[in-house]
Amino acid sequence: MERESLEMDVVFVGAGPANLSGALHLARLVKEHNEAVAAGKREGKPLGELEIGVIEKGAAVGAHILSGAVMDPRALGELIPDFIEQGAPVESPVKEDEFLYLTKTRAIRSPITPPPLKNHGYYIVSLNKLVAWLGEKCEEAGVNIFPEFPGAEMLYDERDAVVGVRTGEKGINKEGKRKANFEPGVDLLAKVTVLGEGPRGSLTKSLSQRLNLNDGREPQVYSLGVKELWELPDDRYPAGRVTHTLGYPSDTHTYGGGWIYGMQNRILNLGYVTGLDYGDPLLDPHAEFQRFKQHPAIAKILEGGKLLRYGAKTIAAGGFHAMPQLYADGVLLVGDCAGFLNSQRLKGIHTAIKSGMLAAETIFEALLAGDFSARQLGRYETLVRESWIMPELRKVRNFHAGFRRGRWLGIANAGLQFITGGRSWGLFDRASSEPGHVALKKLSAYGYKGDALEQRYDGLRYDGKLTFNKLTDVYHAAVGHDEDQPAHLHVLDTNICAERCAEEYGNPCQRFCPAAVYEMVEDPGAAGKRRLQINFSNCVHCKTCDIMDPYQIINWVTPEGGGGPDYKNM
Ligand code: SF4
Repeated sequence: MERESLEMDVVFVGAGPANLSGALHLARLVKEHNEAVAAGKREGKPLGELEIGVIEKGAAVGAHILSGAVMDPRALGELIPDFIEQGAPVESPVKEDEFLYLTKTRAIRSPITPPPLKNHGYYIVSLNKLVAWLGEKCEEAGVNIFPEFPGAEMLYDERDAVVGVRTGEKGINKEGKRKANFEPGVDLLAKVTVLGEGPRGSLTKSLSQRLNLNDGREPQVYSLGVKELWELPDDRYPAGRVTHTLGYPSDTHTYGGGWIYGMQNRILNLGYVTGLDYGDPLLDPHAEFQRFKQHPAIAKILEGGKLLRYGAKTIAAGGFHAMPQLYADGVLLVGDCAGFLNSQRLKGIHTAIKSGMLAAETIFEALLAGDFSARQLGRYETLVRESWIMPELRKVRNFHAGFRRGRWLGIANAGLQFITGGRSWGLFDRASSEPGHVALKKLSAYGYKGDALEQRYDGLRYDGKLTFNKLTDVYHAAVGHDEDQPAHLHVLDTNICAERCAEEYGNPCQRFCPAAVYEMVEDPGAAGKRRLQINFSNCVHCKTCDIMDPYQIINWVTPEGGGGPDYKNM
């Protein structure tokens, strides 16, 4: 097969906030350097015109990023000090914070907002619009952005140094044969490749396994956020109001909580986070979110409103202890795929932007030195350690681990950490030493008979007004994948699904996937037996299945470029 190779200087994989900030910062550093050298103000050689590329699997920058987040502006202010004047698309400054504890029928408003959830001075943003804006800034600075180009494979030399990335092929049918529109993937060769794929990136996963980047670190733990965007009929929930909730509907052994953010034009962003280290095999994060909306306090806010968009996304919640080695020969990791999220504050945009900027500074120094080895690129970890990122993450290093012992000990631990600056004297810091899927228990441990969801969600109905089933929600994610392509969910041994998993866990993929991708159906070839059907075209790219499968036999890989949800302008 004839395969095109493109020589670039730096390739960023994934057009999220970390990589776009990194690409923009690098382009500016190089320009400033060239101008200073040309003007005789700086010694050394000019670096010339660099080829900096950002590849993105979605159809456009932001297509796979759904709205609503509260952003600490610290890093964006460092990248673009006058970001407001330059038209950064912020929805509103945060004007009001509230924290609710939900019982089944009541909402108890906390007299004080816990300090980590105070958002004064921050902004509610549509992350989708923010990254589209950063993408424009990158293009103005000369960065090449390639949408519809998923990173499919890392490229290594004979010493295992990363030398670039291979993009995904186009035009392969579901039998794996070439169609008339077949195009092979392109080898993008680069001095440095920066992975900013978001949580559980598929390239990051394979790279980390190959180069043992997680050795000596805690396993990463994740949470899944299931969210919807609503349009309200009036101003009952104003732009700039932020609500966080704890309690109902999650049980006290499961990490979970809700959020509501008021955006412009009567748009509401709300969602529910479930820790992907839960025990109950019948738990369904999408159903938890529907239950959350049924709470009287939440239902009242949504009454008469209209569902606009749906999405789901994992977040890497392991923090400081679970961060992998951030560099290797020819490669750096930034943003959520490197675990930069502050899970106590539920904020990661600022740390993602900062990590991208520090990666850019590292690459700039490496370009000057002409050295792209791990020894040189290891400077990135030093910069991260010396920046404000590490003190912030160190202070909350045991936050998520506390919730492994249940809600009340988790809250007590969070309070203790706030006072002690993160110390928990060994009480909790080993609690996350296993990946989250290990916590999943068998049906028998809960006394369940089979996998009927009613055993946990008795009475949950989807009325199409307040509550929606997964297929209706997926419709509102505007998901599109060419159906005539191989499934991008690789289940390594489907025999396990039909027998062992069915018996032990009741095929939990049918529940933890928030997009009804996995379905056990009658097997026409074996009377009375069921087989796994993968409705891959529903996939909203949240990566939960890759994380939560109890046998770890699901591999999420990138589908054909451009496939997936479409959240443009949301
Ligand atoms: Fe998420 Fe996996 Fe379902 Fe896709 S198939 S929506 S990645 S859980």
